[in-house]
Amino acid sequence: GRTDSQVLGDKPQVSWDDIAGLDHAKNGIMEMAVYPLMRPDFFRGLRVPPKGALLFGPPGTGKTLIGKCIAAQANATFFSISASSLTSKWVGEGEKMMRALFAVARCRQPSVIFIDEIDSLLSQRTDGEQDASRRIKTEFLIQLDGAATNADDQILIVGATNRPQELDEAVRRRLVKRYYVPLPEGAARRQIVARLLGTHSHSLTEEDIEEVVRLTAGYSGSDMTNLCKEAAMGPIRELTAHDIRNMRLEDVRSISFSDFQYALTQVRASVSENDLVLY
Ligand code: ATP
Repeated sequence: GRTDSQVLGDKPQVSWDDIAGLDHAKNGIMEMAVYPLMRPDFFRGLRVPPKGALLFGPPGTGKTLIGKCIAAQANATFFSISASSLTSKWVGEGEKMMRALFAVARCRQPSVIFIDEIDSLLSQRTDGEQDASRRIKTEFLIQLDGAATNADDQILIVGATNRPQELDEAVRRRLVKRYYVPLPEGAARRQIVARLLGTHSHSLTEEDIEEVVRLTAGYSGSDMTNLCKEAAMGPIRELTAHDIRNMRLEDVRSISFSDFQYALTQVRASVSENDLVLY
């Protein structure tokens, strides 16, 4: 998870190549977020891009990665905040926090404000918190509208949610561009595995990788990453404490297909078919 220190803007180093698949969302985002910052002169009048976008889809599919990538591509300052932390962590201060966030983003523009779990901006809570939650939402709408009416502000708000049906209508209406971020297809899963294995010695053939791809239908990008991490630990787990202390790195055996077969028994798809009906 993200830590508080990451709320305040930094410039992330994520490139589109780090994100497997998701061409639809990537292209849409380039058009509304990246190109307009590169060529403001092109994007006037009818071509003024919307200030808000929504990324929706199952957990662990790269929504946060896309948010970071936008900021990297646009050389913008990236602010990342989880909407649920606004209501829980800063009890009574959430509104102020929201206002401060937009104020800093305005100072440091171009900025991208990424709001994770944006559906929880209006989730049902106990009475006291419900009131706080409503005030935060109202403040958010005010700030969004402010950013939208001030044409000179270069602030893009990107909301992400796993539960689009729970998103408040007023919020949804303002996030004009909406992109579905689906589970990765075979080609994307292959790219994730190949990329992660790229930095290690391994003995998987093309056919082995193809088999891993076949066996991981329904896995999210995050599941694929966990699977590869689990497999990568295979060769290390065989070592004794003595080996760990004395062995040379080049003598550790390479990651094998059987490491993946074992990892597949440990790391399962985290998104069920029932969950997918939501999208
Ligand atoms: P959540 O809805 O749970 O916040 P998310 O959609 O924002 O999830 P990320 O945090 O972007 O998901 O992804 C989690 C991790 O999974 C990433 O850091 C990355 O390692 C891996 N991952 C997910 N999707 C992809 C993808 N399309 N390509 C490459 N890696 C991916």
